[in-house]
Amino acid sequence: MMEMIDHYQPDYVVRFDADACQCPACQQAPEGWPRVNVALKNQQRESLAMACESAAKAILLDPEAFNLKVSHAEPQGEQMLSPWDEMLNQQCINLAVHPSMPLEVSLYAIGVLLSKAQQYLDKGESDPMLLLAMGEQLAMLAEEGILEQQFGELPPIPQNSLAALKEMGQLRLALNLPMAEKMGVMLKLSELAIMPTSRLEERLKELELADTQVLLFTEQLQIMRNFLIYKLYHDVFPGVACANYGEAYLQLVTTFFRIRMLCALGANDEGVLPTQTALVLISALSAWELQHPVTAEQNTTSDYSLLCGLSLL
Ligand SMILES: [Zn+2]
Repeated sequence: MMEMIDHYQPDYVVRFDADACQCPACQQAPEGWPRVNVALKNQQRESLAMACESAAKAILLDPEAFNLKVSHAEPQGEQMLSPWDEMLNQQCINLAVHPSMPLEVSLYAIGVLLSKAQQYLDKGESDPMLLLAMGEQLAMLAEEGILEQQFGELPPIPQNSLAALKEMGQLRLALNLPMAEKMGVMLKLSELAIMPTSRLEERLKELELADTQVLLFTEQLQIMRNFLIYKLYHDVFPGVACANYGEAYLQLVTTFFRIRMLCALGANDEGVLPTQTALVLISALSAWELQHPVTAEQNTTSDYSLLCGLSLL
């Protein structure tokens, strides 16, 4: 008899009705898309591709989206999820859903966890209990308010944010928005690539200020929290058999930085960003990043990438 393995199905998959979606990505997609099965040899995770707008809506708006149904299935994949990788992913998820952590502090805590995990990995240690202990310690520090304080004391490295913003000038997003809105966002993005540094610095300040006011982040924090949990679950973050946690972290945090900037760019003059527009922006960015993944600078260490990532929070 074949051995059975765990098969996870989140609520956003159960409730999703693929037939109803007419988004541009679905119209070009093969049969079955946007349904995705992350099939590992010892575990399966059902999910949806964020590049579909209806999928983005199902994943990001529902507070219950990540309720998991566990069943058993026959193994399909070839790649094994090691106990170390599984525990690291689980600890990242725990930090992402911890009730006493604001979103940025969750991201910060994940960075601290990965930094420590990389040290263990480099020393050849692979006991998952080390990660469990670290995750619990971070949760305790968060409850005591110490983590948030440490996060607040991170030295700013403005040139990293500037470089990340400038790079956004290269994004070519397939935005399913009315023509005027679409042109507006695309123009604002392409300007970033050619702005002189002093102007770019001003622009960054404007966007950071707008970002704190955009409705998305005051009234709809759910979207960003769900986005984080989705990335961790869907990508089995930091990845199956990943050896460079710094690079994985830099990718994750760069995506968050880009979403914040995109939402600030996409908001109207009153600082309002309709939820539907936010979903379109996030969905289009996901499609782009799948084709054009963020990579760490060549010949840099995991620690260096981690520091770059932290400076983008
Ligand atoms: Zn779709």
